[in-house]
Amino acid sequence: MAVMKEMRQYFNLINGKTVSASDERTMDAINPATGEAWAKIPLSSTEDVEAVVAAARSALPQWAEFSPLERAAYLRRIGDVLDTYGQELAQLETSNTGWVIRETVYGLIPVLKQIWYDAAGAATVASKGETVPIGPTSFGYTVREPLGVVLGIIPWNAPLFTFTIKAAYALAAGNTVIIKPSELAAVGSLRYGEILAEHLPPGVLNVISGLGTEIGNVLVGHKGVNRVSLTGSGRTARAIVQATARDPKPLTFELGGKSPNIVFEDADLDKAAAGITTYGIFTGNAGQICVGGSRILIQKSILNEMLERMYEATFKELKLGDTLDFTTTMGPIANQAQFDKVCSYIDLGVEEGGKIIFGGRYGGDVLLPDQPQFKGGYWVEPTLLQVDNNAYRVCQEEIFGPVAVVIPFETEEEAIAIANDTAFGLAAGVWTTNLGRAQRMIKALDSGNVWVNTYARVGVELPFGGFKESGFGKDSILENTREKSCVIEIG
Ligand code: NAD
Repeated sequence: MAVMKEMRQYFNLINGKTVSASDERTMDAINPATGEAWAKIPLSSTEDVEAVVAAARSALPQWAEFSPLERAAYLRRIGDVLDTYGQELAQLETSNTGWVIRETVYGLIPVLKQIWYDAAGAATVASKGETVPIGPTSFGYTVREPLGVVLGIIPWNAPLFTFTIKAAYALAAGNTVIIKPSELAAVGSLRYGEILAEHLPPGVLNVISGLGTEIGNVLVGHKGVNRVSLTGSGRTARAIVQATARDPKPLTFELGGKSPNIVFEDADLDKAAAGITTYGIFTGNAGQICVGGSRILIQKSILNEMLERMYEATFKELKLGDTLDFTTTMGPIANQAQFDKVCSYIDLGVEEGGKIIFGGRYGGDVLLPDQPQFKGGYWVEPTLLQVDNNAYRVCQEEIFGPVAVVIPFETEEEAIAIANDTAFGLAAGVWTTNLGRAQRMIKALDSGNVWVNTYARVGVELPFGGFKESGFGKDSILENTREKSCVIEIG
């Protein structure tokens, strides 16, 4: 007789306590490597929204009154706690999103620690203002204050990273926080909240899981929420603008991209080939990365040479399969709906006239025929399509998977025109050994991040955010404050 393995249930974190949704509704979490359910998450209702906002509001006065150094001490402790729980969190993130364990353990968790430490260091900056000379008998100055309750709405592709970026700087500035993870990957965030709550006063950090379409709008429009920061799609950003139109509040949007990665004939071609494939788009989380260099622009004189090198670089060490095995290099697509979308774009690219240079296959049974446990998983082969027209839908719409187009170009001017011919403006890569060209490209490219001879260098040191339909604002410490101008007349 088959024995049913009992699935672990994860809970909301409200006011320092782990709780079920008020009407006990749950949803299965799916492991995308197998397509099988492995855990349960709460599906909250508007009653839970009221409870979570009330908790964040009641914790606010005390947290905001702490000195920046007191808050910094809490945040540093949280960074330390990741030494104990990092491995567990990395495993949950891998099981929930398909991002391979070698990257969640060695890449993700160390970055989360850095963010908490960086936010601790920034806490004193957040409250600093300026003195402003406005006349001999007047003392003018500015102060920065917390905004209140900050709501962080996060996507399914990198939940623990986006959770941390949104929570750490908001807390450092003296706000209390509510995190709403995606219903498609909430397990890591729910456990993360539970762990962190042991090191914070109750209600300072809260996590509520539920459908974006059921509780998202209610949270966003709630009068008790003072700032909303979304990492997600343009569709959700538009819904949030509408939901807050009557009662406006500061919004930060980190949205999608269709980023160009441009290789000139004077580049170090081996370095470029690795940079635009395994770091740029064929990543450990199967290209589900907002800055994915999904449009690869190659100067015609080096096209064939580069296509060969890219094949080599992509497939040299590629290993699909068990995402919890440290030798696996690329995981599956994170959920069924996204898998269907990515597969349909591969088919569309061919219909539009694209030529498959490599890849193009999908499905666990096709890609992992010897490992039946992954038959139902959402596996897609790294796929490169050559096209001759940047107007194709596969060149204009975000695919969000291990699928890139190659677009040949002749001149620098042509490369700039193609690169900027997109509604998005998140990131761009340039590969050249000519410093003058590097400078010209940086100036000409219409994107929030430009990397030269490297790609996807995202960390705590530099501000991160997009232009155009890739969003606006940054999850920085200052955007988590409001600035007050004061004058004391002393004449
Ligand atoms: P999504 O917009 O579908 O969902 C994001 C979050 O919004 C989820 O928590 C969802 O439940 C919630 N939501 C949905 N409808 C809502 C509503 N009406 N009101 C409030 N909340 C609502 O995005 P996704 O599919 O989870 O994530 C993929 C997208 O995120 C891609 O476009 C990707 O480029 C983008 N992304 C951007 C960055 C960045 O930093 N620029 C980083 C990662 C992902």
